[in-house]
Amino acid sequence: CIVLRELSEFMNKNLDISPSETLPDTGQGIFNKRFLKEIEDLGEGNFGKVTLCLYDPANDGSGEHVAVKALKQENGNIAGWIKEIEVLKSLDHCNIVKYKGCCSERGGQGLQLIMEFLPQGSLAKYLPKHKPHQSQLLIFAQQICQGMDYLHSKRYVHRDLAARNILLDRNTQVKIGDFGLTKCIPEGASYYRVSENEDSPVYWFAVECLKDNKFSFASDVWAFGVTLYEIFSYCNSKQSPPKKFNEMLEKPSKMSQMLLISLLEKQKRLPCPKNCPLEVRMIMERCWATEPQQRPAFISLIEKFGDVPK
Ligand code: ADP
Ligand code: MG
Repeated sequence: CIVLRELSEFMNKNLDISPSETLPDTGQGIFNKRFLKEIEDLGEGNFGKVTLCLYDPANDGSGEHVAVKALKQENGNIAGWIKEIEVLKSLDHCNIVKYKGCCSERGGQGLQLIMEFLPQGSLAKYLPKHKPHQSQLLIFAQQICQGMDYLHSKRYVHRDLAARNILLDRNTQVKIGDFGLTKCIPEGASYYRVSENEDSPVYWFAVECLKDNKFSFASDVWAFGVTLYEIFSYCNSKQSPPKKFNEMLEKPSKMSQMLLISLLEKQKRLPCPKNCPLEVRMIMERCWATEPQQRPAFISLIEKFGDVPK
């Protein structure tokens, strides 16, 4: 694996130099843990924890701010974690969070991913606080489609597209983050079947993901529809997809994968967010078509968002 090879090259190169003489070669993407100063926690999800750090080799506060992601449990899925880093490293697009490097003291175990720091954090946190104008929401939606179209052109499926995984740079540009569940679809094949039992964001899943574990470009489009729903409801926690799906149950009971499948098969879908433009609602509904082939591709959605009156 390239990350581990780079790490061992870095370690070999520095074996005969005393630590005080070594300045890390950040050009190669290797960061030295000694110079990473923790500032604050930025957030955590199911698998990872992200911390804001100052990378300050000169030790005079002149360094740069970076976001550092580590596995939450040290004994977590190391192979999956290295894969996440490899995927992010291979991507280069203005609507995808930028890889800066990695950092480790103890091989794979303590491996940390260094990314650009996005001061506004996730849309899930930003939207309820700042409630930008709808014209801005349309721009965000279009940028997500641009990033996803690029990701799909590289034959990756994201599998965890949701407002909590979309980050905001200044106030105008969004970037897709969290490639922890991303998988590559081999050329010629059109979907990826998961066999492992992962902790999954089921309320963002298409019906075929829930029924048959089939993840495809089209299931990312379904998840985008749910993300669009979140964006146009300003990520209001009272309107969240888990809350709304639970309200659809005929009698209050604990939601299960089976119940969610039966709701979706009865054509139940998330409601139209308040004041959401009709054109946007129609896009959501097309993303939630039962048949994966009926859902639009991101390339056509980029155009559609350009056509919605601002
Ligand atoms: P997990 O795999 O555990 O879900 P994420 O990569 O989604 O981890 O990160 C968790 C949270 O940390 C995000 O929802 C976001 O709030 C914050 N975060 C992640 N990356 C960055 C970043 N580059 N800049 C600022 N905040 C970030
Ligand atoms: Mg996440």
